[in-house]
Amino acid sequence: MPLDQYQREINYLRISVTDRCNLRCVYCMPISGLQFLPAEDLLTPSEIADVVRVAVSVGFRKFRLTGGEPTLRPDLVEIVERLSRIPGVGDLSITTNGVLLPQLARPLAAAGLTRVNIHLDTLHPERLSKIMRWGTLEAIWRGVEAAEQAGLTPIKLNSVVARGYNDEDVTRLAALTLERDWHMRFIEMMPFGIGECATLVRDQYVSNDEVRSRIECELGELDPLPESSSADESKNYRLRGATGVIGFISPVSDPYCGSCNRMRLTADGKFHLCLLNDDEMDVKRQLRENGPAAVRDILMKAVHLKPMGHRLHEGVYTQNRKMFQIGG
Ligand code: SAM
Ligand code: SF4
Repeated sequence: MPLDQYQREINYLRISVTDRCNLRCVYCMPISGLQFLPAEDLLTPSEIADVVRVAVSVGFRKFRLTGGEPTLRPDLVEIVERLSRIPGVGDLSITTNGVLLPQLARPLAAAGLTRVNIHLDTLHPERLSKIMRWGTLEAIWRGVEAAEQAGLTPIKLNSVVARGYNDEDVTRLAALTLERDWHMRFIEMMPFGIGECATLVRDQYVSNDEVRSRIECELGELDPLPESSSADESKNYRLRGATGVIGFISPVSDPYCGSCNRMRLTADGKFHLCLLNDDEMDVKRQLRENGPAAVRDILMKAVHLKPMGHRLHEGVYTQNRKMFQIGG
């Protein structure tokens, strides 16, 4: 198993397959001034499979495709097919805004995808269009239904909470778990770079303590659930009598860096060592110049050099990339 210099076991690779997106969530992507990667800079399905094969050979077991919006990659089904066939890939999931799942959920499930996390910030149609700009509740909801029908379960929903946008809507989202076997997870906003997204995160941040209090005030006490694994970044609870799970992911107010098990691969082929830090190592250049054998060395170096934790409390965070360029 790959251990970093702090003896953390790093066995989970999050792979961003594109920096493009069909939405423009306020805390993630600015509306204007965007420049996307040219196609030749993206890793191909075969190159992604090369990296995953190496990752499996050193002990990685869990893989997630993300973006930008991963469903915009026209070859996403091929990527999933290639990765799911690699012996040792234990868990293969995607994080998506769900909009394209009505046409893709079945082909992705047939290609070997195990699960999806779908991003849904609120059940209020107007407020959803304000926070997930270009998104509609109807389109995302159709995606959730398609994922469930295709057996991509348990359905996990992610909501990033921003004051004045969706903080009043967390209770309705949490109430979904009363009757559905879904996981509803609330994520604290994190700052990236400079500009409108970073300003919004600074001014509109809502802590998960506040989200939890609001839910408990309106729906009753939350019972803690046992940790599924020490690397699970979500602290999980259940409402009395509910079938689903409510999770809180609190990188700002309750960092889980000490048990982080992640490495990230950006769409342009860099290992990004910690979400909230700029350190990167270029794997694409090594792969293209020296072949898959060179990937092992660079991955082991990236694991070794992974920073111990973020320094948000000191005002230090990722400057060179925004969230959509890393993948969450
Ligand atoms: N487009 C897909 C989606 O939205 O799920 C995948 C990529 S998106 C960057 C991955 C996750 O990052 C989403 O759950 C999104 O809500 C979250 N996210 C984006 N910007 C964020 C921020 N500034 N702070 C915290 N989470 C953020
Ligand atoms: Fe797109 Fe996901 Fe970022 Fe929203 S959070 S803009 S859906 S990449």
